[in-house]
Amino acid sequence: MIKSGCETEMKDTLTGLDRYEVFLEKLQQELDLIGDDNIVVIYTDIKHFKYINDTYGYKVGNALLKEFVAEFTNNNRLLVGAARVYSDNFVAANRISADGYTKESFREMIRRRNQEWETKFREKYLNSRLQFCTGISIVNKNSRSLDAETVVSNANLARKVAKEMEDDCCVLFDQSMMEGIKREVEITSSIPKALANGEFKVFFQPKIETDTLHLMGAEALLRWQKPDGSYIYPDEFIPLIERSGQIVDVDYYVYREVFRFIAKRLQEGRKAVPISLNVSRVHLNKMHILEYVKELFEEYQIPYSMVEFELTESIYLDNTERALELIKGLHNMGTKVSMDDFGSGYSSLNLLSKLPIDIIKLDKVFLKEGDLQESDKIIISCVVDMAKKLQIMSLCEGVETMEQSNYLKEVGCQMQQGFYFSRPIPQEVFEKFIDEN
Ligand code: C2E
Ligand code: CA
Ligand code: CA
Repeated sequence: MIKSGCETEMKDTLTGLDRYEVFLEKLQQELDLIGDDNIVVIYTDIKHFKYINDTYGYKVGNALLKEFVAEFTNNNRLLVGAARVYSDNFVAANRISADGYTKESFREMIRRRNQEWETKFREKYLNSRLQFCTGISIVNKNSRSLDAETVVSNANLARKVAKEMEDDCCVLFDQSMMEGIKREVEITSSIPKALANGEFKVFFQPKIETDTLHLMGAEALLRWQKPDGSYIYPDEFIPLIERSGQIVDVDYYVYREVFRFIAKRLQEGRKAVPISLNVSRVHLNKMHILEYVKELFEEYQIPYSMVEFELTESIYLDNTERALELIKGLHNMGTKVSMDDFGSGYSSLNLLSKLPIDIIKLDKVFLKEGDLQESDKIIISCVVDMAKKLQIMSLCEGVETMEQSNYLKEVGCQMQQGFYFSRPIPQEVFEKFIDEN
């Protein structure tokens, strides 16, 4: 059948769904006439869809999108409209009677439906790890003053939260999510000023050699001290500035401070120890980092052995090839590289033998509060043993008690770091620490 020009303009050519603008108009009409019903907006994104395009090609990718749309709109009497927002992002609106279900029961229904689709699609597209991530925003007569765009954007916000969760990929929008966004904007917009005003401070956490209990290095850890004296900790602001890309400048700031510090110690004829620098995953997209570090070595003229780099375990899994390229670049320069947070995520033992890393940093998850668990002891000793056989040094993080420290000695873990020895400390205090050691 030949469609009229007008009809095709209203539809998405690939899926036959309404174009997004048309969907918004329909949704607005429904909201204007809400009555006693609820309007439920469901925003779904296909996680790991890129894998399909990359592995099977675009033709298969397009077919999958069509299959998905068939499921998404299948047999749904309550559907008032559906659209492809872009790429693999879809939105649908349903009019539902307010009786007979709660927000939570509706979420549960969608979650189960997503899981059924996942099973079906994963059987067809093997190894794809496809997952359907959904955000749900429900409007009733009390909240009907919201406009269509806001309702979709709320559902999309919930979808983003869902996407960050490992299992439960289906989330209801909640006003508190807006607070999170406000905080994010507040933080990211104040970064340039914070950099210019010297609000970022580099702290140092000593690393201790297990056999001698001597200081053998330190890790540089960032602290943000606001003008009012309060601190914002990296766990809060780093994920946000990774998303905005600002972490690159912030990391470079840390690196320069550390180079300056080491150069100063050496010029004064005082002892210096190797300092390790954290490398954000974001550097992998740009790869300017190698040039930047090279320039720092030229400018400050410190030995290559004085700085090391920590790449978190998940970086290797995200993009093994780029990570390998980065490690090689750093090695060519003559610096050591460690695998940070080993054991915190889906560690791949296989990676250890593939990547030429020098040090493995066991994550603090193995040293939970209280007595050492038998199972953690087994894992620690096996990892240390395996590292030794692969000629990789091992360091355990998060050591808080003498018992833990002694156990690490018993199994031959060469280095330790944690509150038992010292918290991260400001430069002046760390200088005393070095002098006294
Ligand atoms: P990380 O690289 O795993 O750093 C170790 C974290 O464990 C630090 O948290 C440190 O204060 C904490 N820690 C050390 N010893 C103990 C202990 O005995 N017990 C417990 N419970 N915790 C301990 P911090 O400083 O809050 O940093 C958090 C994370 O932020 C770091 O984890 C790192 O991923 C990131 N980060 C910090 N500074 C930088 C930086 O300059 N650049 C980048 N890209 N990331 C950074
Ligand atoms: Ca680290
Ligand atoms: Ca770590």
